Amino acid sequence: MSGPAQKGRLKRKAGWLLAVAIGFGVLAQSAQSDELAKNAFGAKSLPAASEPHSYGFYSKGCFSGGMAIAADGPTWQAMRLSRNRRWGHPTMIRLLEKLSHDAVQDGWPGLLIGDISQPRGGPMLTGHASHQIGLDADIWFTPMPDKRLSAAQRESVSAVSMIKKGGLTVDDRRWSDSRMRLLKRAASYPEVERILVHPGIKKKLCDTVTGDRTWLRKVRPFWGHDYHFHVRIGCQAGSVGCKEQAAPPEGDGCDKSLAWWFTDEPWRPNKNPDAPKARDIMKLSALPKACMAVLNAPSPASEAVVTLGGEGVPQTSVASAPAEAPTVDTTQPPAAANAYSATPTVDIPVPRPKAKVGQSSR
Ligand SMILES: [Zn+2]
Repeated sequence: MSGPAQKGRLKRKAGWLLAVAIGFGVLAQSAQSDELAKNAFGAKSLPAASEPHSYGFYSKGCFSGGMAIAADGPTWQAMRLSRNRRWGHPTMIRLLEKLSHDAVQDGWPGLLIGDISQPRGGPMLTGHASHQIGLDADIWFTPMPDKRLSAAQRESVSAVSMIKKGGLTVDDRRWSDSRMRLLKRAASYPEVERILVHPGIKKKLCDTVTGDRTWLRKVRPFWGHDYHFHVRIGCQAGSVGCKEQAAPPEGDGCDKSLAWWFTDEPWRPNKNPDAPKARDIMKLSALPKACMAVLNAPSPASEAVVTLGGEGVPQTSVASAPAEAPTVDTTQPPAAANAYSATPTVDIPVPRPKAKVGQSSR
């Protein structure tokens, strides 16, 4: 066989191999966008180092430029540290710091902060339909104890339900005006659009709040949320790809929409309990396109440089005496709707016609 002919064959073979390689490359890439979003976002330990932007909706999106709240601040302690969910849009993180200070002024001993978001948001491996764009945060109804909890305690301490076991009404041995004031303070900030609480807590507020009741409009009943409340702020300036939630209906919400929660309908067992949750099947390709860039963006140099109150924060609690004795109860079994239970698959607290209820909180 002559040299040039062999060369040509080799060339063709090389070309074919290159085509195969490119083909595999394309396949690998499309497989990536087909990856489960919760795995890809759950694997990120640091935020995307860029301007803060939220992309998509509370229950389907991601965000860049995340900031963390320090595990310890003078007026707060963050819980369940192993989950690495102390991240949010900087506006949310600053708001939590402000709320913690204001709450102490109001006589609340300080905040126990639950889940905010993963470093780059997105769906989570466990729990929460929302919390995906850095604009949602959970705060425990348990007051901050006057000593620093150890990392192990922050994993194991059970939150205390405000709702009577097996019922839909507030347990008056646990509920207090100080908790009402905490909710009122949180609702007072213009950034806050909604606060989600158990329907029994909403009912309690409807029955007891006197004077200004306009803030009750922001407090919406929802499944779960008996041991913590959920603060949601609106899309922030500059977040072009952030999808707003509809404003709550006019009025204080102490009406038919609340009465619905005291019927059987919201608590019927899920007809299809084995149906997968959106969070568990959401592929990267289902998220806004920008989320792929968020996922691939570089991280900041360290966690410390993007942590609020992370350095130079006194490790002692506030000097003022707690208005209420700390009631962290380590003997209490977790409530039915505890930190580990899944949230319902829907996240818009309005009455729905006989739709599937993801999971009842009872
Ligand atoms: Zn929440």
